[in-house]
This record gives sequence, C-alpha cells and structure tokens, in this order.
Amino acid sequence: MAIHDFLPPRRLLLGPGPSQVHPRVLRALSAPLVGHLDPAFLGLMNDIQSLLRIPFQTVNRFTIAISGTGSAGMEASIINFVEPGDAVLVGINGVFGSRLAAVIERCGGKAVPVEAPWGESIDPNMVEQALRRSGPVKALALVHAETSTGVLQPLDDIATLARQHDTLLLVDAVTSLGGLPVEVDRVGIDICYSATQKCLSCPPGLAPFTMSDRALSVVMRRRFPCQSWYLDMGLVADYWTEGSRTYHHTAPVSMLYALREALRLVAEEGLPARFARHRLNSDALIAGLLELGLTPLARSGQRLPMLNCVTVPERIPEAEVRARLLTQYGIEIGGGLGPLKGKVWRIGLMGESSTESHVLRLLNALEELFVQGGWLTTPGVALGAAMRVYSRIAH
Ligand SMILES: *Cc1c(COP(=O)(O)O)cnc(C)c1O
Repeated sequence: MAIHDFLPPRRLLLGPGPSQVHPRVLRALSAPLVGHLDPAFLGLMNDIQSLLRIPFQTVNRFTIAISGTGSAGMEASIINFVEPGDAVLVGINGVFGSRLAAVIERCGGKAVPVEAPWGESIDPNMVEQALRRSGPVKALALVHAETSTGVLQPLDDIATLARQHDTLLLVDAVTSLGGLPVEVDRVGIDICYSATQKCLSCPPGLAPFTMSDRALSVVMRRRFPCQSWYLDMGLVADYWTEGSRTYHHTAPVSMLYALREALRLVAEEGLPARFARHRLNSDALIAGLLELGLTPLARSGQRLPMLNCVTVPERIPEAEVRARLLTQYGIEIGGGLGPLKGKVWRIGLMGESSTESHVLRLLNALEELFVQGGWLTTPGVALGAAMRVYSRIAH
C-alpha cells in the first residue's frame, strides 16, 4: 500500500493558535539532531533560559520550557504546589479558568471559584471577599488572557491581595506572552506558564514556565512527593541546572531548536515594538469588523490585541462563512466555545500572524463573502476603516 506524502494545504492561521511560524523557525526545526546531553545542546538550553526571561520580564533562575503544550504548563503549575486538601482560589470567566479549576480538583485540591460572566474580567473586590470567606488558600490562580472570550485580566490589584494574604499568585500567560506585557517580577507573579504556539509563533509542543524563589521553596517543602513524575519540577530542575544535568526525560531536541529561534526573533524585535504591533493590527481589524456589524465581546480597555473575539449577528451563518474562509481563501479563524458556540468569532493576531497584510487580507475576504451573502451593500468600508487606522488615507 502506497501512502502519499502529507502535503498540508497553505493556510493563513488567524485562529486562537497555532499562529504563523517564521521561516527561520521552520529552518531551525529541520537542523540535524544532537544528543540531549551533548555539550552543544546544554549551551542551547542556557540560551533558552536567558531568552525566556525577556518576555516573562523576570530574573527568576527557575525559567525553563516544559515538554508538552500549554496544558502541560498548567498541570505543572498546579501539581507541584497543590497537595491533597489545599484550597486554591481560581478566577473563572471562560474555558481556561474552568480548566484550571478541573486540574486543581484532579490534583486533590479544592478549587474555590470566583466567577465573572464570559466577556468580563474578574473583579478584585470579589477576590477579596472570597479570600475573607475561604480562609487560607495555597494560591490565587488567574488567566491573564482568556482565549475563549478575548478578555484581558488586570493583575495589579489581585497581586496586592496575594501579598497581603501571603499566598502564591499563579498566572496563565499562554496567550499573552510575547504579545502583551507579562511583568512577572514587577507584578509579583510567583508561578507563570505559557505555550509556544500563540504569540511566540513557534509550533505547539513546549510550555515556557517560570517560578519565583518563594514558589520554589514551596515545592521544596512539600509534605508528599509530586503526584506526577513527569512534571515534577524538582526532578526536571536537575536537568536544567548547570553543573547537574541529570537525565530525567529526553528533551524534545528539535522543538527546543525552534523555540530558541522564535525567542531570538522576539528579542530582535524588542518587547515595546512587539506590543505596539499587536495593538495597532488589532485596532485596524476591529475598525474594519465594526463596519461589517461585528462587535467586540469585551469592553474597551479589556480587549486582547492578539485574540479578537467579536459577536456575529444572527443573520450571518457563522459556521458556513468560517468554512468558506478556510476552503476558498485559505484563512483559518476560530469559532466560539461553550456558551459562545455559534455566536462569536475568535480572530487571532498572534506573533507572526499579526501583520497589516494579514488584517487587510482577512477583511477583503470577509467583504467579498458578505457581499455575496447580501449582508453588505457598500464594499470597501471595512478595508477603508482599517486603512484609516494605518493612516494610509485621511481620517
Ligand atoms: C491555548 C491555551 C491553553 C492550553 O494550551 P494547549 O497548548 O492547547 O495545551 C491554556 N490556557 C490558555 C489561556 C490558552 O489560550
């Protein structure tokens, strides 16, 4: 039986991840392998640790890439700290807050939810009240960028509460890292994880992770061994620590090549320029979408620039339009999850996906589909609105 080559169709990835990958990262993936204990590879691991501290804005010694996708980073962030019976206060306003709560419970912890409607951020006053009611908690866990709703979670006030109550602050920065400031040291985040396939624009497969010395001392003082052998950060640390380098599990060599290159691209661009690019392209996209009758779910000031979640009017068959975007134009965007299924689009402008030409290409395709569907009679309005944001034509 002949099995054909798999030739992936050409796609423009404007969904909730994975994002577009730079050719330099693809080239790094195809480099010859070395052993995961080769001195050359150990040098690469040091590079990755230094480069990861840039987007995390931290000096934390314990800054590594966990083998596995963002969810592995989430599990590691819970299972190393939560021992059976520990309570963790968790913000739930979308899919990923719910997933955090599920992981906490599976680790034998008790998830104390602080909820907000999907599309809103968690109110620090509610966190404060919940802390008063709950008694001591091991950590406050929050999703910085809720990918299911496009909502940004402000962290400063909640970080102050974490310090006042002497509890760890745990933050999911899967979607924000590399596209928005994730100020681990300034804010006082103790445990933070991300994923490679969102704003870092690397294929999925690794979870950047950092923890403060305070968090590390909690790991070291555990009463029971970590229930996961694979994600036990105490054991993984021996491999990442210079001078030790003890075999724990085989590092995903090629993925680490790719991450090093993706992080080098982040460092070359610089964080301020990168954040400004994400903001500008999102502003232009939203200006165009508004002309098509698509309105952002989150309120102004709390919208994510890398994940634009917009409500689709009922007259528009959203799943069909999304399918035609993919098959006719080669453009992937995301649909809604859970209660937002069939109601919203989630348009990712993450990392390499966040460019002016991608925004204009998507708006052009949407205008054509909307004209064909009879939902737009004045073609050019969405592109015009975006172009005004880019200051290509007069306001
Ligand atoms: C994508 C995502 C995850 C899960 O990451 P995977 O790489 O899919 O395992 C977790 N949290 C948030 C906020 C995400 O957007």
